[in-house]
Amino acid sequence: MHELGIVDGVLSTVRSTVSHEGAKRALGVTLRIGDMTEVVRESLDFAWDVLREEDPLTADCVLTVEEVHPASVCRACGASFDHDTRHLRCPACGSGDTRLLHGRELDIVSVEIEDSDE
Ligand SMILES: [Zn+2]
Repeated sequence: MHELGIVDGVLSTVRSTVSHEGAKRALGVTLRIGDMTEVVRESLDFAWDVLREEDPLTADCVLTVEEVHPASVCRACGASFDHDTRHLRCPACGSGDTRLLHGRELDIVSVEIEDSDE
């Protein structure tokens, strides 16, 4: 399950943000995840709950996910279109020669931190 690796990477980014900012702890993080990454939301949430506990800096950090639905542009006719994870063919001309515009995102949008009292 590659969600564990994803969460591990996100948490280490969150931790370095907290220490870089001299903050007390992380309160929340927002991720943008494209459908084409095939991240399973339940596995992601499970991995998050397990791994965030390992460090007091992230123990109360709440995960928010923005889902990005796939969109492509057709190389044959230039049409751009939304689609699901399986139907990549151009609806305008039927070509399979398309380029993905959105849907593979796996980005940290923002990290919310609590400032230190000092
Ligand atoms: Zn087309």
